[in-house]
Amino acid sequence: MAKRKSMSSKMAQRKKPASKLDTAFCCPFCNHPGSVSCTIDLKLYVATAVCYGCQEFYHTTAHHLTEPVGIYHDWIDACEMANQGIKLQARQRRVGCDDDDSDA
Ligand SMILES: [Zn+2]
Repeated sequence: MAKRKSMSSKMAQRKKPASKLDTAFCCPFCNHPGSVSCTIDLKLYVATAVCYGCQEFYHTTAHHLTEPVGIYHDWIDACEMANQGIKLQARQRRVGCDDDDSDA
C-alpha cells in the first residue's frame, strides 16, 4: 500500500533553468528596464540599489535573508513615501527665529 506524497512536494521538485537570482530591475525614476542593480553587504548589513541610468540609489539595512528583489521593493516603497513627503515639504513651516537679537 503505497502512500501518496502531497502535491506540494511534487511542486518543490520543479527545476529552475538557472539558480541565479534576479538582481536587475526597472528604475522607479527613469523607468529604464534592468538598470537597477542590487548589492548586499552582509558584513556591514547594508543593501544598496543603484540605477546606472540616472545614478539614483537607495540604501537600506540587510540581513542574511535579504534578497535583491526585497531591496527593490523597499526602494519603491521609499519612493512612494518620498513623493508624499515632497507634498508635505511644500508647505513646510517657516521658523526664522534662529537669530534672537538679545544683545542690548
Ligand atoms: Zn534610473
